[in-house]
Amino acid sequence: MQFNEKVVQWFNAKGRTHLPWQQHKTPYSVWISEIMLQQTQVATVIPYYQRFMESFPSINELANADEDNVLHHWTGLGYYARARNLHKAAKRIRDDYKGEFPTHIDEVIDLPGIGRSTAGAILSLSLNQHHPILDGNVKRVLARHYMVSGYPGLASFEKQLWKLSEQLTPNKQVASFNQAMMDLGAMICTRSKPSCTQCPLQDDCQAFFHEKQSEFPGKKPKKQKPEKSTYMVMFTQGPQVLMYKRPASGIWGGLWSFYEIQNKGELEQLAQSFGFAIKDTNEHPAFRHTFSHFHLDITPLLVEIDDKGLNINDNREQLWYHLEQGANIGMAASSKTLLDLFAKQQNLIQ
Ligand code: SF4
Repeated sequence: MQFNEKVVQWFNAKGRTHLPWQQHKTPYSVWISEIMLQQTQVATVIPYYQRFMESFPSINELANADEDNVLHHWTGLGYYARARNLHKAAKRIRDDYKGEFPTHIDEVIDLPGIGRSTAGAILSLSLNQHHPILDGNVKRVLARHYMVSGYPGLASFEKQLWKLSEQLTPNKQVASFNQAMMDLGAMICTRSKPSCTQCPLQDDCQAFFHEKQSEFPGKKPKKQKPEKSTYMVMFTQGPQVLMYKRPASGIWGGLWSFYEIQNKGELEQLAQSFGFAIKDTNEHPAFRHTFSHFHLDITPLLVEIDDKGLNINDNREQLWYHLEQGANIGMAASSKTLLDLFAKQQNLIQ
């Protein structure tokens, strides 16, 4: 039996077919699920996907939504550039393609946030078009099966794997084959402890034969991440806390956050810039947030101010966040941690 036949046969018997985005597949539903599944596990994605599709059931509804509302639906999923790109791409589809998802691979790759593999997955899974894919799961299966040296991100490694994926993708049943390869990587040929005894490719898998599964794919040589630190200032008044919207570029771009200072000496000046008088300051132990390229140690400063602060009105750049009322805004993971801290201080949660 050929490679693709073994994989499809396995998929028909053991693959996942009941996930929400696999019912009534459209390019839109596959697109949203594929973007959410990048860097995120299926179980985590399911409730996010369901809420997202309920709020934005069509490309036009997504395109016409407020960016804050889109980011709000992404809060907790991380990698917010994905949500911003989804929104941008939806607007492009609304304006350039009358709200219909484009069906030519080059047009799809040209949309913000969609690379060759995601474009191939969308068009093959929803329309059964013939395109190879190469996401992280597929890379792992192929790198092990053929013992391809190198690591993800290395041009020569990627090139070899794309070639293999092109050769192996069958002309028929492309949707089943591509889904099967992704499932095989996610369920059987897992990062650690692959279940080789249950794998349909075991017979001629090179890594299995040489017992070198853990060596493929290779790992990118590690660079030490730099460490940075900051104080995040939470100006509070009763159950309200002042938040601001970060600029669109830079870390947590476009998300709601707290004002930052580099040292405590700057606090007084920051408070004065708003006309606040400080009543009390509480410093809490620092916690670490790790980005892809650095660690950020965040020290929370809860600063209670007098009632002059209420002169600040909510607008598109800043708002008083009310703990009990909440708000439909996109927040960075760190903002959620800080709000929990504030809620604890207010005895709203234990
Ligand atoms: Fe992966 Fe093991 Fe299957 Fe080889 S035999 S593809 S290492 S699960």
